[in-house]
Amino acid sequence: MTTIDLQCPGCETLLELDRGFAGGVCRCSDCGTLMTVPDSAADRPERLERPDAPVQPQSRPDSPSKPSRRASTTRTKPTRSRSREPEPKGKQTYRTASGRTITVDHDRVIPMAPVKRHAVRAATVLVFVAVVGGVLGLCGFGVYLMWSRPDAKQVAEAQYVETFQFDPDANPYTIAAPHVLGLPLTNRVAVVYDTTTLTADQLASVNPLLLDGLRRGDPAVAVTLIANRAQGELDTLLDERPLDRVDTEALRRDLADLTANAAGSPLISATQRALNDDPEVLILVTARRVDQAEARAVANLLPPSGVRLDAVMIDADSFALEDLTREHGGHYVTLASDQELADWQP
Ligand SMILES: [Zn+2]
Repeated sequence: MTTIDLQCPGCETLLELDRGFAGGVCRCSDCGTLMTVPDSAADRPERLERPDAPVQPQSRPDSPSKPSRRASTTRTKPTRSRSREPEPKGKQTYRTASGRTITVDHDRVIPMAPVKRHAVRAATVLVFVAVVGGVLGLCGFGVYLMWSRPDAKQVAEAQYVETFQFDPDANPYTIAAPHVLGLPLTNRVAVVYDTTTLTADQLASVNPLLLDGLRRGDPAVAVTLIANRAQGELDTLLDERPLDRVDTEALRRDLADLTANAAGSPLISATQRALNDDPEVLILVTARRVDQAEARAVANLLPPSGVRLDAVMIDADSFALEDLTREHGGHYVTLASDQELADWQP
């Protein structure tokens, strides 16, 4: 720092002064006391007293008329008026408390030591530290994010599967764990893929995504996939990229059977077939607007021991099915084939 701090011996106000004045004299800007400016910070400034002038009237000129004020504020107020006294002329000799004799030339300008601005400085330092700390913190956080990105992603995926919160912004193609259109698969899962009302465009969107999700390796997951109509595209995909844990021959048999015997609700006959494998979770993927009667028929098929029921609706909604999934502790997800499915890219 280029300033030195000094405490006024008259009013004890903390002052600051340019270091260039060290060794000289200065006046307190608060009370006007004339004092020495010490060379080192360890020394204290000394009040300059004129040996030829009476001290009391000089330092407390207003005290006789205001005794109460004098009694209560002897340190600051009474000495303030001193600066209003006529400035001595020419060279004057002063004496300090330690006995030094100092000559001050009053024809020259005596520096006025301003009051040190604690609060302003403290606030400035605080703001500076906060800004620098904030910037450094942000940089550090950015670096942390850059370096920890793969880990964070893995953790996020693990949590995504563990405590499922369906997120249409998450791309299921990037999910490492097996899933059905973003829904996690647990130990024993039966998937009913009701293709009866899906259009060719919907099938083109859903088929690759569904098979890709099922193909994600996890030996603990046993999947049964029931589709109730042999769609050429799904068949071709199964030929090209066979599912590891799904017996595609059995699947095709089921498809043929269900297609041949698709009397009544195809969703109900497919559900019946899926429950033969005693799954823990049953996932219905459908574009049907399942009504109350159809939902009740599915509910009647579900074993009393409890099976979790999830539903993925493609471009459709069904309050009856939504209620049913809630009753069976499952997830109910609606997907728009032209929005969510289109956004999910391999
Ligand atoms: Zn002072």
